[in-house]
Amino acid sequence: MAQAKTGGCLCGGVTYDVRGELRPVVACHCHQCRKTSGHYVAATQAAQADVTIRGDTLRWFRSSDTAERGFCGNCGSNLFWRRHGNPYISIWAGTIDGQTGLRMESQIHTESAGDYYELPHMPVIDQSELS
Ligand SMILES: [Zn+2]
Ligand SMILES: [Zn+2]
Repeated sequence: MAQAKTGGCLCGGVTYDVRGELRPVVACHCHQCRKTSGHYVAATQAAQADVTIRGDTLRWFRSSDTAERGFCGNCGSNLFWRRHGNPYISIWAGTIDGQTGLRMESQIHTESAGDYYELPHMPVIDQSELS
């Protein structure tokens, strides 16, 4: 079993811990990730059953008919994405405390990437994971 990882938002209002395995980090260049983060997103993923989230300032924004995005209503940090009925939750890698032990290995929605940056040199996965 992996060592538990902790994380949270900028103000500390939302914290979480993950007891299970974390997936390698995937970069998402989709329109929604660009808008909510101000750039592109780099997210790991874990089983929802392995994640405990705490904090009164956590808010969920319904970003589509099937998915929602978790953020801190106080400091505005983007933290999570989850699809209804999916047993996994995406966690923004930059919100993990300390050393993650993870690597960013692939990217999705490069067709929506901004024109002001070069795409990372990573494989592109054809997958609508973070919409
Ligand atoms: Zn916060
Ligand atoms: Zn996205």
